[in-house]
Amino acid sequence: MPLVPMGPMLKQAQAGRYGVAAFNMIDYNSARSIVEGAAGLDAPIIVQVSVKTVKHWGYEPIATWVRMLAEGVDIPVALHLDHCSDIEVIKRCIDAGWTAVMFDGSALPFAENVAKSREVYELTQRAGIGLEAEIGAIGGVEDDKFVAEDAAILANFDECVAFCREMPKLAVFAPAIGTAHGFYKGEPKIAYELLGRITAVIDIPIALHGGTGLTEQQFHRCIAGGCAKVNISTMHKHRFIEGFVKLRAEKPKLEEPLPFIASQYEAMKADVVDMIRTFGSAGKARAAAQGAAA
Ligand SMILES: [Zn+2]
Repeated sequence: MPLVPMGPMLKQAQAGRYGVAAFNMIDYNSARSIVEGAAGLDAPIIVQVSVKTVKHWGYEPIATWVRMLAEGVDIPVALHLDHCSDIEVIKRCIDAGWTAVMFDGSALPFAENVAKSREVYELTQRAGIGLEAEIGAIGGVEDDKFVAEDAAILANFDECVAFCREMPKLAVFAPAIGTAHGFYKGEPKIAYELLGRITAVIDIPIALHGGTGLTEQQFHRCIAGGCAKVNISTMHKHRFIEGFVKLRAEKPKLEEPLPFIASQYEAMKADVVDMIRTFGSAGKARAAAQGAAA
């Protein structure tokens, strides 16, 4: 089916207490493993792209790949731009056919974050696509931005309320709740209490960043607490590399490239399938598509 906006599918997920997986694609093969992995389980899916990856391949190629993959399957697929602080990049993604974008103004002072996020909110409302916006500082590395885990700041509750009041139709809200990008060095300390306070008064689905390395129990607790979008990037990158390296070690004389691509595909897809099962979104494609059409 054609690409769908992200907001309605996440509303459905929030109501049904399951999580929609959002994987960061790397190349066509990776996008294919994400979409086909989800299609095999009849699950809604978000293919998201880092700014770095967009700049590597270009806007049109990525939009074309993901649109073609979505049209070949019978599940709702949203194409999303991950953490972006550059409004010009966001505009180009909207023009190229993205159905959701994230504006990350979390490094800005609160008032400026609100003003800039509102500007992008107007753009996305006009385009009929979804917006994700962030408050607080999620730890770890995202693209070239590094936030030390001890410098990661939990979202301020009052600021969350004020922020979301400005943007009632936000597709998904990303408050920093203690998770981090990359692999965790220690035990992640998730601020469940803050998550509970936020979802008690804000009726917007929540995004869970830094999904790699969380336990099944942590995923379940976050999803039950209102996290409807679950981001996985680091693990997917590792599968991409492992898929190649493992076959190379097994068959060092192999000179044909296609088996390597197939091996990467299988490694990435197995992880996609595993995560979708964990998040409870298998079999939810129809409900999510109805939400998307509403
Ligand atoms: Zn993130």
